Amino acid sequence: MASVVNERPDTQTTDDRYVFRFGGGCTDGEAGNKNLLGGKGANLAEMASIGLPVPPGFTISTAMCARYYEEGEHFPDSLRAEVAAGIAHIEGLTGHRFGDPADPLLVSVRSGARVSMPGMMDTVLNLGLNDETVEGLARAADDERFAWDSYRRFIQMYADVVLELDHGAFEEALEVAKEDRGLTLDTELSPADLKELVAEYQRLVRDQWGKPFPQDVHDQLWGAVGAVFGSWQSDRARVYRRLHDIPADWGTAVNVQAMVFGNMGDTSATGVAFTRDPAKGAHAYYGEFLINAQGEDVVAGIRTPQYLTRAAREEAGAKASSMEEAMPQVYGELASVFDRLETHYRDMQDIEFTVEKTKLWMLQTRSGKRTAKAALKIAVDMANEGLISREEAIGRIDPASLDQLLHPTLDPKAPRDVLTKGLPASPGAACGVVVFNADTAEKRAAAGEAVILVRTETSPEDIHGMHAARGILTARGGMTSHAAVVARGMGRPCVSGAGSLSIDMKERVARCGAGASWREVKEGDLLTIDGATGEVMIGEVPTVLPELSGDFRTLMAWADASRRLKVRANAETPADCRVARDFGAEGVGLCRTEHMFFDAARITAVRQMILANDEAGRRAALDKLLPEQRADFVGILEVMAGLPVTIRLLDPPLHEFLPHEEAEFAEVAKATGLDVEALRRRAAELHEFNPMLGHRGCRLGVTYPEIYEMQARAIFEAAIDVAERGEAPVPEVMIPLVATRREVELMKALIDRTAQAVFAERGRGVDYLVGTMIELPRAALKAGEIAETAEFFSFGTNDLTQTTLGVSRDDAARFLGAYVEQGIYSKDPFVSLDIDGVGELVELAAERGRTARPGIKLGICGEHGGDPASIAFCERIGLDYVSASPYRVPIARLAAAQAAMRKPAM
Ligand code: ADP
Ligand code: MG
Ligand code: MG
Repeated sequence: MASVVNERPDTQTTDDRYVFRFGGGCTDGEAGNKNLLGGKGANLAEMASIGLPVPPGFTISTAMCARYYEEGEHFPDSLRAEVAAGIAHIEGLTGHRFGDPADPLLVSVRSGARVSMPGMMDTVLNLGLNDETVEGLARAADDERFAWDSYRRFIQMYADVVLELDHGAFEEALEVAKEDRGLTLDTELSPADLKELVAEYQRLVRDQWGKPFPQDVHDQLWGAVGAVFGSWQSDRARVYRRLHDIPADWGTAVNVQAMVFGNMGDTSATGVAFTRDPAKGAHAYYGEFLINAQGEDVVAGIRTPQYLTRAAREEAGAKASSMEEAMPQVYGELASVFDRLETHYRDMQDIEFTVEKTKLWMLQTRSGKRTAKAALKIAVDMANEGLISREEAIGRIDPASLDQLLHPTLDPKAPRDVLTKGLPASPGAACGVVVFNADTAEKRAAAGEAVILVRTETSPEDIHGMHAARGILTARGGMTSHAAVVARGMGRPCVSGAGSLSIDMKERVARCGAGASWREVKEGDLLTIDGATGEVMIGEVPTVLPELSGDFRTLMAWADASRRLKVRANAETPADCRVARDFGAEGVGLCRTEHMFFDAARITAVRQMILANDEAGRRAALDKLLPEQRADFVGILEVMAGLPVTIRLLDPPLHEFLPHEEAEFAEVAKATGLDVEALRRRAAELHEFNPMLGHRGCRLGVTYPEIYEMQARAIFEAAIDVAERGEAPVPEVMIPLVATRREVELMKALIDRTAQAVFAERGRGVDYLVGTMIELPRAALKAGEIAETAEFFSFGTNDLTQTTLGVSRDDAARFLGAYVEQGIYSKDPFVSLDIDGVGELVELAAERGRTARPGIKLGICGEHGGDPASIAFCERIGLDYVSASPYRVPIARLAAAQAAMRKPAM
């Protein structure tokens, strides 16, 4: 057999070669080369090369996809000879001949891009059947039912995928055929029934397509190959690529492979499996199979699949026997293949297999998608098992996915009005309004609503709606259904297979139960789903903070040991600080002080301060605020004792605090003794046309030094209070929105003066630093001068992005989408730092700052502090810390470790 494999059409050199064969224990080389063969083809070849049972076949490389489109959707002539050699290779190994009326070879035609795109590309099975070969197949297999079942499947798939006819009509014909005969299962149709169904299908093809179903097996093959390449540019494939940043020029490969049959009776089956539990991560085989079935029957949710292992069946309380019980010998072989694959790929595998008359065949393997919880457990377990190193374990976790774990789950004590229960397909809780189709989900989500997408079952056309939804609920489908797999990949909570639901798309209502327990849910009703238990509840169920697992702590400890960057939090209340500290924050990088001013009890004093006509009036108001601010800082410095806390002096434009309503003006008037009219005039004076560039930041401190003086006093008095209780406060006072050295000199002098005054009054001091935000391009350029006074820099990359790009964050929504779509910016620059432009300013300022003041402390606050790509940049330019919102602290810790290891996230 090996000679067949090594023979090459001699007109071909490796370079212009597009077909690569596998099977019979050999390959044409390039096994495992995903760029060339696509993920599926590369892994089929790799499985074949390590001696696993893979039906023989060949892969037309991704390079051909590019060429196909370059040449106006045509194939070069040379491909025909290569494909013919590929078919001959399969014929040689199987002993069946393609198109042979006596004993035909059937093949599947399967797509496969570099990265798995679940359901994006369509597969055609049983290709090679026609009115003649079906008879031959029946005789050769001595099984008429099987042959005709295969033929009707083939026509149905080919009509759908290749001819793009309306598949509803074919499904209906099948339903009618069963109904007419009083049957419920496809498998109960007799050979005669199936022949009639095939005739009906052929009529449907002729009616819809205008031509008879193609009888020439080579036409069938080229039609299918063209359809696979064609589907690369389908709408659903494009949507998926856009959502997952997959370049359009990668292309897909086509795999043509000998069919093996899971529909040859009760010793045949088809199944899908994971080598570990993809939802929770347990080291146990996990999967489903169906006896006497083919291909997508398992994932399509048409029949309810059976469990793979006995333990899983017992846990679920299911009756139908597991594969372990029904086919113990094949199950044993399968289990040993699982172990080999894990050892070979050193990762959890997602596997498709078929059993043909007790013979096991492997049809696919790939690294399995998993929830964040499972990813952590699997990475930690595999490192402990010695399969991978700790560094690899750290590199295996996508930092952004930790979000799933840090988010709330349903409050176990809250009452639940349980409507029904399905399978716990993807963990997490979600609440939202019910919608019944993907477009509505997208529309209502864009309008700011939380939506739950409810479908009978999902298909690739629903991807955009699943993405827009907070959670997904389906009436059909198992743990490996499309909905379940995609939801886990996206981190969306999902309950699948809630069988008691019946969904009426026309009326837009889901009905459940019967008789007295009958209930319905209409579009727009509130629903809560719990993807961890499978429960579906009417209305909203309150949520609680999650309990972090031991695996989480273990992996984070490993990450902490390999990172250099410190991670701080942006927090401004003792409660936030506590969350941040629990999540491992090593200080507060940004404590904003303005939110404290909005407190209902204080806002009148704040307004009194702003609207005062003179310094005396302002000081009177500030005197009321001082004890309040001091108390704020005592709380924060206490929680963060021993760790640095960077407190930013008042930053926003004053007009944000102005009263709006009559009652608010009246209240300020009463507090100040001024009349409402005078207050209104003063408020009008404070109006700004462009507040983002207006009277804000240190400009407030320059014009009204008493404001910053009060805040500095509050900070130092608080620090001494805390120090007197034996704690170790570490305040860092930060001046916002500076552009020039002189601003910093003036403000630092004011702060130092205030500190000295407080220290003298209290008879003791505390250590502190005074530094600045770098958030204006001028400050970045003059960082050298500024660093002569400033003791630290914190890059305020939100404002620095706004001012460098000249883009207002609040107005960017109108055009930024188009900018990202057209590649002007590769990502939203407010989410992921514009490393090229804004990053250059940051890098330059860091350098100039360090030159002027060696060892100056450098950090970043702002949204970018929690973004893995931006964190990698901060690591590269050697900043000391990043600061992120409390819930993103673990993400930043992990991203910082990965950046230090120079391993990009998966
Ligand atoms: P997808 O990428 O959507 O998973 P596949 O190409 O893996 O599509 O095909 C879907 C299913 O079709 C497989 O899981 C398998 O059950 C079946 N299938 C594909 N090729 C063969 C084959 N050569 N013999 C038997 N079944 C096959
Ligand atoms: Mg599929
Ligand atoms: Mg597959």
